[in-house]
Amino acid sequence: MQILFLGTGAGMPSKQRNTSSMILKLLEERGSNWMFDCGEATQHQILRTTVKPRKIEKIFITHLHGDHIYGLPGLLGSRSFLGGEELLTIYGPKGIKDWLEVTLITSQTHLKYPLKIIEIEEGIIFEDEQFIVEARLLEHVVPCFGYRVTQKQLAPELLIEKADELGVPRGPLLRLLKSGQDVELPNGNVVRSSEVTGEPKEGFKLVVLGDTRYCENSILLAKESDVLIHEGTFDTGTEGLAREYGHSTIVDAANVSEKAGAKNLIINHISARFMPEDIKNLLVQVSEYNFPIYIADDFNEFSCINGKLERI
Ligand SMILES: [Zn+2]
Ligand SMILES: [Zn+2]
Repeated sequence: MQILFLGTGAGMPSKQRNTSSMILKLLEERGSNWMFDCGEATQHQILRTTVKPRKIEKIFITHLHGDHIYGLPGLLGSRSFLGGEELLTIYGPKGIKDWLEVTLITSQTHLKYPLKIIEIEEGIIFEDEQFIVEARLLEHVVPCFGYRVTQKQLAPELLIEKADELGVPRGPLLRLLKSGQDVELPNGNVVRSSEVTGEPKEGFKLVVLGDTRYCENSILLAKESDVLIHEGTFDTGTEGLAREYGHSTIVDAANVSEKAGAKNLIINHISARFMPEDIKNLLVQVSEYNFPIYIADDFNEFSCINGKLERI
């Protein structure tokens, strides 16, 4: 999986940062992308990437502040113009359905694909054979969710050389062995699945939080995750503003990550008060923590393989 930040700013767009949006690229895993939040002009940001709107399968909205949703109507319309025909599902807090439906109706935006809008409560909000998505309420000035995406255990790899050694012919018998079944070869020999497959692989655990103060639910969601994406609107010295406006400092983000035992932390939702030259100083404030911490910029892309995160 890869993580692509389309917008990493807080509140309003600035020259450096657009408002919140992020893409979880699952092209290898399921041939689609998931989006988290969709601030104004997200579709303009997408134009500067290789992401195709018709490949966006799900959009998870953390909360209904404009810097997280004002890009939705335009993106949904363009997805239709650009040939999107497959179902799009949007998950978000109560109110998202009314707002979006009224906007689409009054602007006479006729989508050529089915749109499902699910107003969520805390708990498991999506599950299929590959993924589980769990939501919990955070502490902001309006209801705001954090999401935990868990990829289920992956089927073990087929050790093709071992299978060749044991004389398994290419074709359906190999598929059965890969799926965990033992088989009998045409010569009568029995080959066990465990002889020709590796260890099952753990999937990834990614946690994407919306705007929030430091809170317990953030820690619960982020427990032993591979990657935690946490807002850091403020810094040491502006803690008071963070508390007052329902936000976190970058030290709050690092503390949540440490308590949760998350392997990697990416901080987003950065205030326009911080200029590009300030980022190094911000990272100094969290230099004591013994796990990798990144501050994301727009268009930063990360890949995560076996819990190891890299900025591409
Ligand atoms: Zn925000
Ligand atoms: Zn907000």
